Amino acid sequence: MLAAVYHGKEEIWVESVPEPTLDDGEVLLQIEACSVCGTDLRTYRHGDPKITPPRILGHEFCGRVVESRAVGANVRVGDRVVMYIVIPHGSDRYTEMGRENLTTHRTTMSYHHDGAFAPLMKVPARAVELGNLFPVTSEIPSVQMSIAEPLGCVINAHSRLNIGLKDTVIVIGAGPIGIMHAVIARLQGAQKVFLLDVNPRRLEMATQFDVDEAIPVTADGSHRERIKELTEGYGPSVVIVAVSSGQAQADALEIAGKAARVNFFAGLPKTAPTAELNVNHIHYKELELSGSYSEKKSDFQAAYALLHSGRFPADRIVTHTLPLSRMTEAFGLMESGEALKVCILP
Ligand SMILES: [Zn+2]
Repeated sequence: MLAAVYHGKEEIWVESVPEPTLDDGEVLLQIEACSVCGTDLRTYRHGDPKITPPRILGHEFCGRVVESRAVGANVRVGDRVVMYIVIPHGSDRYTEMGRENLTTHRTTMSYHHDGAFAPLMKVPARAVELGNLFPVTSEIPSVQMSIAEPLGCVINAHSRLNIGLKDTVIVIGAGPIGIMHAVIARLQGAQKVFLLDVNPRRLEMATQFDVDEAIPVTADGSHRERIKELTEGYGPSVVIVAVSSGQAQADALEIAGKAARVNFFAGLPKTAPTAELNVNHIHYKELELSGSYSEKKSDFQAAYALLHSGRFPADRIVTHTLPLSRMTEAFGLMESGEALKVCILP
């Protein structure tokens, strides 16, 4: 079969690889759709020391079970499924508290196991056994279901933000993840939701969603004045940083209202992980600062259920589809801000 194989920085080749064969307990999926993640883009541009090439990337997928050697599994041949891609091996304090994303005894699809930028993908026995496959029983297209994985990551952040009717929310970064954060904030009942970005194209796209205003970030800081105006001088009660930028993190603490909750959803590059922050904002404004990494199984379940319900605008989040042969074109579309999510049809 033809698969998109990662060989190192700037090297993803669509090439012929052997079809996977199953051992006991494993399940084979025919991949119908696999969206391209920001981390795929980062891996392509900068490499990733956690991934040993050659490796088939792609972890935001929806597929159909075409073969199964898993007796008693919750899915059968013919079922369409999505997958929680974190696979804990053994248990520790974190798995016991339902925070599988934090365990060190985990493997992950497309990092330790071949992913879904290929027509066929093997699901490890441990994942099947843990019930990581979720059957899709509605008519929702596979392209839309493929965003269950990133949506689960977004929901993980929200499980610590507890947004509700009393909140005004600012999301910094109007890429697909930022927009998902904004939509979730709205669904949670936020009074006002604003998106910030430096890219006018992204801001333009953001206005097609249910947000109150898409605000351009300027070097002179005029966006901070605009935010003050829009929040009656108080500043927002929640700020989410959905862009990998130390400047955005610093801005988040600056913009946040008193007693606000701030979430650093995006990390910084591992080669430059420090940022200059005015930490007195945390002190004087009594901010609550949280981080967010990957997702818990319960977050994935919530994302799966929300997509299933049809109440999430997944059809507008995925703006482009490409055949596998043109997979690397996705990266340019994402970088320019022309695309939100690009979905590959292998
Ligand atoms: Zn992802």
